[in-house]
Amino acid sequence: MRYYSLNDKKENKDMVSFREAMIKGLAPDRGLYFPSEIPKLDPDFLNNLDTYSDNEIAFRAIKPFINNEIPETELRKIVSETLNFSIPVVPVKDNYSTLELFHGPTMAFKDVGARFMARCLGFFNRGKEQATIRVLVATSGDTGGAVANGFLGVPGVEVIILYPKDKVSDIQERQLTTLGKNIHALRVSGSFDDCQNMVKSAFLDPETQELNLTSANSINIARWLPQMFYYFLAKKQVMSSGRKKKLIFAVPSGNFGNICAGMMASAMGLEVEHFVAATNINDTVPRYLESEAYAPEPTRPTISNAMDVSDPSNFVRIEKLFNNSLPLLKKQFSSCSFTDEQTREAMKKLYTSSGYIADPHGAVGFLGAKKAMTEKSDVHAIFLETAHPVKFREEVERTLGLTLELPPQIQEVMEHPKSFTSISDYKELKDFLMNT
Ligand SMILES: *Cc1c(COP(=O)(O)O)cnc(C)c1O
Repeated sequence: MRYYSLNDKKENKDMVSFREAMIKGLAPDRGLYFPSEIPKLDPDFLNNLDTYSDNEIAFRAIKPFINNEIPETELRKIVSETLNFSIPVVPVKDNYSTLELFHGPTMAFKDVGARFMARCLGFFNRGKEQATIRVLVATSGDTGGAVANGFLGVPGVEVIILYPKDKVSDIQERQLTTLGKNIHALRVSGSFDDCQNMVKSAFLDPETQELNLTSANSINIARWLPQMFYYFLAKKQVMSSGRKKKLIFAVPSGNFGNICAGMMASAMGLEVEHFVAATNINDTVPRYLESEAYAPEPTRPTISNAMDVSDPSNFVRIEKLFNNSLPLLKKQFSSCSFTDEQTREAMKKLYTSSGYIADPHGAVGFLGAKKAMTEKSDVHAIFLETAHPVKFREEVERTLGLTLELPPQIQEVMEHPKSFTSISDYKELKDFLMNT
């Protein structure tokens, strides 16, 4: 398996290894890396997923993407350290379940990708700890905490995290500003898109080339691909429970990395009837599917702020999975957007009708599932719950009129003071990088 840039339109494309694609993050031509082929998994394995362990499933799913760049025993170890928490499918009501992705150390689904990438980088960096690698990442909320936690204490790696001031929750901010050691938090006056643009500028700046910059955003293949695990593991649980219906996955989407990983799993042979990308009012993709004009508008703040993204990077990968054919894509994929008002209504409805406490992102996913269910019959919908409700505590408590208990992982960070550097433009970021 090799990787090429989606901006490379040449017949004979420039190919790089897994390691190089991971370390570069973004290709030199600013394109996203994409695998040279889509591996197909053994149908016999896929038909009997419920007889394999989670670690075995995840190992078999990721192995073809890594070839022999990481030896099998090491890769198995990385996979088992990545998946050291549960990822349960929880029935919500008749034809709806939720896949809870928030049982990891930072209680966000991004733990899986961050932990996997940190361990791969640690593997490739072994014995070279003197050449510091700088992981530079922009976060709209949960990436920061997951990356900070996943990379904490990895030798030879400094982590620099940019986040938009006043646009992440208190718990999210604490998760990325309280760890210290090799983790540095930069608070940016601006939106997530501003943060992301500053990160992109840093990668392209000739003067930062000797800094060994790498990204840990969902554009990074080492963060993006392991998110496939969720879909395989969900399917395994549905099979074990004896359900025979076809599956719809409804994915609350911001940068579209998570859903794109699910669609990759499907392209590898995992049977999925349909994918719904549910967004908040930052609705570039739903509008694009309607009008066929891709026209991002300025990002607008919402209560599902980890999805406040108006130009989702990973969408080009989704298009590529369908050979850039919109009609083909639409057969398996739809996208719809919901307002904060609708999101709050959905949270209330889920709570009163089934006692389930969803965070705003999960509630957007639920709304997407519901919409898709009106168009399909005889299917089971799984909406992904991407963050623990406590991470959006004020909103959840206000909307549902209850008090949430703080889980131990969260209590721990609340006890530490925040420490960050404020910046407002690329020059300030560059100065910081040059001195870290
Ligand atoms: C990042 C995030 C999302 C969006 O995931 P993408 O892969 O960027 O689409 C959704 N919910 C939460 C809680 C997140 O942190």
